[in-house]
Amino acid sequence: MPIAGIFGPQDLGNPARGRSVASRGGISAAERARALPMPSLQWTPEVERLTAHLYERVRGVIPPVEWPFMAPYVKAINELKEARGAVILAHNYQTPEIFHCVADIGGDSLQLAIEAAKVKADVIVQCGVHFMAETSKILNPNKTVLIPDSRAGCSLASSITGADVRLLRERFPGVPVVAYVNTSADVKAEVDICCTSSNAVAVVESLNAPEVIFVPDQYLAKYVASKTSVKIIAWKGACEVHERFTGDELRSFREADPTVQIIAHPECPPDVLAEADFTGSTAHMINWVRSNHPKRVVMITECSMADNVQAELPDVEMVRPCNLCPHMKRITLPKILDSLLYLREEVTIDPLIAEKARRSVERMVNLKN
Ligand code: SF4
Repeated sequence: MPIAGIFGPQDLGNPARGRSVASRGGISAAERARALPMPSLQWTPEVERLTAHLYERVRGVIPPVEWPFMAPYVKAINELKEARGAVILAHNYQTPEIFHCVADIGGDSLQLAIEAAKVKADVIVQCGVHFMAETSKILNPNKTVLIPDSRAGCSLASSITGADVRLLRERFPGVPVVAYVNTSADVKAEVDICCTSSNAVAVVESLNAPEVIFVPDQYLAKYVASKTSVKIIAWKGACEVHERFTGDELRSFREADPTVQIIAHPECPPDVLAEADFTGSTAHMINWVRSNHPKRVVMITECSMADNVQAELPDVEMVRPCNLCPHMKRITLPKILDSLLYLREEVTIDPLIAEKARRSVERMVNLKN
């Protein structure tokens, strides 16, 4: 079904944009009081021996000359994680030394949301962007949830506020609202249900409504509209990484090698998806490569994911059009170390907002199960 209409903040007259982010600043007195001793960060033969099994996982994507700078952090983080009783969750867009060497659980937003609800650890360190850490806190209100850099935002999450959703409801009374998980807790609190790019079509259809408001990704909304007979009213948000890909770019990959396989994320514009051999969420893209084992593949998404898949499947040749997410790249080994040393930066959500947001996230998680 063609999309019914696309709305944005200027159509609703709401000037409130974005969210405030905590300033990082120096180490506070409270952080110093609960700090653990600073571990050694020297590259020694012992560090080399103790991290050799981890380097094996990433040797295809991290040159040997770089490992001595990473290994002391990897060893220290894994030891601090144990001392804190912490678990590290990492999104597929994190760099390989994080994804393969310090994370306990890796995956897409849906996988991380489900795992966040199951973890037994007292402390969760979210290696991803701020809305992901908020989702972990929403599902684990009694746990300490940390994000190594609270400035790790998202162009989709900052494109819409809870007030925008209330205005959409006024304009379209009675129409249910679905929010992509790439939204703040404030937005999740105002909608009927959340979705990810893995389950967006199923979530929309689960509402049994003739029309649905879908926020905030206009391209994912268009993709959903192409797969369902439900009328979609979309918001004007976009992922700044995926909207940069073009159909021309994909055609040039195919001209250079007609046998290459091209797989794309549904946050990309429609002319990009029209050129792809397969469209799916990050988890679906990874599973597609595992099952199809192509000789050469272009993954049209954030470029660290190609590195992470390459580390797992060294015989698949990855063609890497490199669009990095600057927000995901704010998370680094030194900041993860700080997070565990000082229990910073803690994610907090107003309990009333968290309670309402939890209903929207749990409704999605329960639908999946
Ligand atoms: S890749 Fe796009 S959707 Fe994902 S965090 Fe970055 S800006 Fe947001």
